[in-house]
Formats: sequence, C-alpha cells, structure tokens
Amino acid sequence: MAATSNGNNSEPKHVKMLVIGSGPAGLSAALYGARAQLEPVVLSGQELGGQVSITHIVENYPGFPEGIGGPELTDLFKKQAERFGATVEFDTATEVDFSKRPYRVKSYGGEYLADTVVISTGASPRNLEIPGEKEFTGRGVSYCGTCDGFFFKGKDVIVVGGGDSAMEEGTFLTRFANKVTVVHRRDELRASAILEQRAKDNPKIDFIWDTVVQSINGNGDGTVDSVLLKNVNDGQESEFATDGVFIFIGHLPNTEIFRGQLDMDPAGYLLINRYMETNVPGVYAAGEVADPHFRQVITSAGMGAAAAIQATRFLENEE
Ligand code: NAP
Repeated sequence: MAATSNGNNSEPKHVKMLVIGSGPAGLSAALYGARAQLEPVVLSGQELGGQVSITHIVENYPGFPEGIGGPELTDLFKKQAERFGATVEFDTATEVDFSKRPYRVKSYGGEYLADTVVISTGASPRNLEIPGEKEFTGRGVSYCGTCDGFFFKGKDVIVVGGGDSAMEEGTFLTRFANKVTVVHRRDELRASAILEQRAKDNPKIDFIWDTVVQSINGNGDGTVDSVLLKNVNDGQESEFATDGVFIFIGHLPNTEIFRGQLDMDPAGYLLINRYMETNVPGVYAAGEVADPHFRQVITSAGMGAAAAIQATRFLENEE
C-alpha cells in the first residue's frame, strides 16, 4: 500500500471529515463535505470506487442514458469531489477508536484525528465455502465477470446464484464464453424482471434449477474442469464439466474494524437512523455497509450526500 501524504510515523492528521471508503457513497459524501468546506479526506480502501469500479456498465444511474462504465463513473465522482477540495488517499483504514472525539483512525499510511467520520466501506462478495473454491480462486473460480470474463473466451462456465448480479454478470459473460450455465438453488430467480428476461432470452445461457454446487474440481494442471452438483429435491449428485465457476451469491458488509464500537445487525451491517447516524455522535454510515436492501449506485450516492449534510450540521451546531 502506498504511503499517504500523511506519512508513516508522523503526527496524526486532524481533519474535519474523514470518509472511509471510496465507492459512490464515499465519493458523494466527499463531494458534499467539500462543498461545505470541510476539506474531507477519503481513504480509498483497496479498490478505488469499490464494487462499481469493477462493473462493466452501469445502466441505471440517471444522467447517462446510454449507460456508463463503472471505472469511468468512479473517475467522474472522484474528479467532482476533488474539484471542491476533497483529497482521496490510496490508503486503507485498519483500526478505529470512536470512544472519544476527535475520533482516531489508523491506516496503513498513517493516523487521523477526525471531527466527523463517514463510513462507506461497502461489502465484499460472499463465498460458497465449498471444497475447491479457495484453491481455484483466480484459476477458474471468480467473483467478477467484468474482471475475469476475458480469460474464458470460447469456454464453458457456470454462474452460481439467482439474483441481479448473477443475471447481469451471466449475460455479460456470454460475450466471451461459449456457454453459460446458471446453477440456482431454487426453481425461480430473485433477479428483477428485466435482467431475468434478458438472461432467459440469451441463447448462450442455460439454467439448472434446484441445484447446489458441492465441490469444485480440477485437473492436474491446477485449473477447474468440473463441479459436483446436487439436486436439492432428490439429493442426486452429478459431475458437470466446466472451465470456470462464477459465484454471485450476495455480499458481506466490510465492518470488521468497527466491531464492538458501532451497533450492527446480526449480519454485520451498520445500524443507522434516517439521518445516516450511527450510535456514535458524528459518525455516519452510507451505502452498502449500512444498506442490505437497496444497494444501488444511486441509493448509495444519496446516502453519502445525506451523511455529509448531516455531518456539516453537526459541526455547525457545535460552533
Ligand atoms: P442477492 O440479490 O442477495 O442474490 C443472491 C443469490 O444467491 C440469490 O439468488 C440466492 O438464492 C443465492 N444464494 C445465496 N447464498 C447461496 C448459497 N450459499 N448457495 C447458493 N446460492 C446462494 O445478491 P445480488 O444478486 O448480488 O444482488 C445484491 C443487490 O444488488 C440486490 O439488491 C440487487 O437488486 C442489486 N443489484 C442490482 C443490479 C442492477 O440493478 N443492475 C445489479 C446487481 C445487483 P435465493 O434466491 O434462493 O435466496
């Protein structure tokens, strides 16, 4: 991880607003915080832009009638926040202390003292936790069609899951793959009607219903060559030949470093009120880290803006 301008071994840097995470929520919070002259500092996390930055095309963010690439949208969000005085550091928060103000946040690159904090650390793909999954990750097992689809030109892949991500990514994968087989544990999809229809209309996509993947198996050269499937109704197992396994079975919130300090639901999502406030005054959460329900670019961006407006008012009331 690159050192920040804050630098290692230096005094903690005091900021009015620290934004942890750089997805649509974080960068929107930074934009609004910057326009309120809070000079926000954004810790980008491992992936600038978060999940949207690895999305091939975003078709449902208003203002882009033809859609816009995830990385391009991230770049525009970042530029707009920077234009008004936000600073984006390629750095990751590692430890927080919300017991007293200013709040202390340690990162790989340094340490911050923050008057207000907006948490927008998002969520990460869930794993199936089956034999072979870890072993073949990056060598046939993937959680991102946009990132890895290209490696499956002319090959057969399976997609696990029945939600919007599975349909969207499965459809995208047909650009490269010879055949995409969706393996879903029920007999109906969770995905929205438009994405479901698009996938069902695609001649390169097949469905296997009521079925789970039991294990991912490889050949001698360390790449995937089959999966073991199990029908959940009759328990029957079968070997299914495939070159790749794309897993889209939901997400887990990135809240490990806040455990014990902020209230969370049983799944680990941060609990907030309608003002984006956590249980700690001056600490807000926005986007998927606090939203297991909508998880859209537009809803996350809206939450980020709301969190920054609220942080601004909080600081004004203190003055
Ligand atoms: P999701 O909606 O939670 O769907 C997860 C899918 O994985 C479900 O079909 C679920 O099956 C299945 N699943 C979960 N655990 C499993 C397991 N252990 N083994 C096998 N299958 C399992 O997740 P998502 O598709 O990532 O979508 C998340 C959110 O982002 C949603 O709100 C979605 O609308 C949104 N999103 C929107 C777009 C878009 O609008 N373009 C694109 C992507 C995502 P069950 O159905 O049986 O529960």
